[in-house]
Amino acid sequence: MTTPAETIGIGASSDTAFVEFRHELFAAGLLHPTSVDGVYGKSAAYERIVEGVLASVTRLGVGRFEAVHFPPVLARSTFDRTGYLSSFPDLMGSLHVFEGNDRAHTELVRRYEADGDWSEILKPAEVVVCSAACHALYPLCTGRLPEAGRWFEIQGYCFRHEPSPDPTRMQTFRMHELVCVGDPDMAVTHRDSGLADGLRMLRDLGLEMDAVPANDPFFGRLGTILANTQLEEALKIEGVTPIYPTEKPTAIMSANYAQDHFGSSFSIETASGNVAHSSCVAFGIDRITLALLHAHGLDPYRWPPEVTDRLWR
Ligand SMILES: [Zn+2]
Repeated sequence: MTTPAETIGIGASSDTAFVEFRHELFAAGLLHPTSVDGVYGKSAAYERIVEGVLASVTRLGVGRFEAVHFPPVLARSTFDRTGYLSSFPDLMGSLHVFEGNDRAHTELVRRYEADGDWSEILKPAEVVVCSAACHALYPLCTGRLPEAGRWFEIQGYCFRHEPSPDPTRMQTFRMHELVCVGDPDMAVTHRDSGLADGLRMLRDLGLEMDAVPANDPFFGRLGTILANTQLEEALKIEGVTPIYPTEKPTAIMSANYAQDHFGSSFSIETASGNVAHSSCVAFGIDRITLALLHAHGLDPYRWPPEVTDRLWR
């Protein structure tokens, strides 16, 4: 079983074009380094931009979409049904916890104090770190959908294990999605209209945007075939913007038609009794924030009013 990932990854820098940008973000105090690549502390100014971008996406769906906010962890049973493990084993993250007795605790501490591998004593928790913001949504739709389908605005965190010093490739980042679960026509129409709305919103924020067919980074040899099929069937389209002058533009949003993948995995039926189809338009909130900082400068309080009026109205 395979799954679309709403991965926003194509076009990120592969060499050192990002070094200067990351240095500037640190120097301006917008990002703070940790001991791990791709994990940062963020300043109040950075978070203010994030809030403005989140609000801009929310405005796209106001009145039409039911808002649901999910935490950064996902039920393991839900994760297992998404098929993510088959397609992206190298990107997933599993949480492990201690459930042992006193004797196991003694051994845990002994290994910890001896700098040994204490993690072997842990057991898989009932949750994993969130693979895609929309994955937690599908169990809510199991059963028969109403005639008009269901429309959701989802906010959540995603985790991707791809440590990189490129600031646009974070290990954990915010994803804001507009999701349609319904019949095939609804899903495709939503994918296309959501893409158009999203591109317009991002252009209105002063970003130079282009839309390109894309594929998810499926794992392994089978993954190459899956990626080619995804491209041929034009299931995934990314909204990209130039951040690094010598590199391919960076994807900051994507529009994904999952066909009946989630409908069949989560037993979701349309009103007429067919397997439901779904699509989601996903906004990489941290990447959009970085793209805005790159486009308008590192002090958001000095950005052009036509941008800040839209972000903070
Ligand atoms: Zn999604």
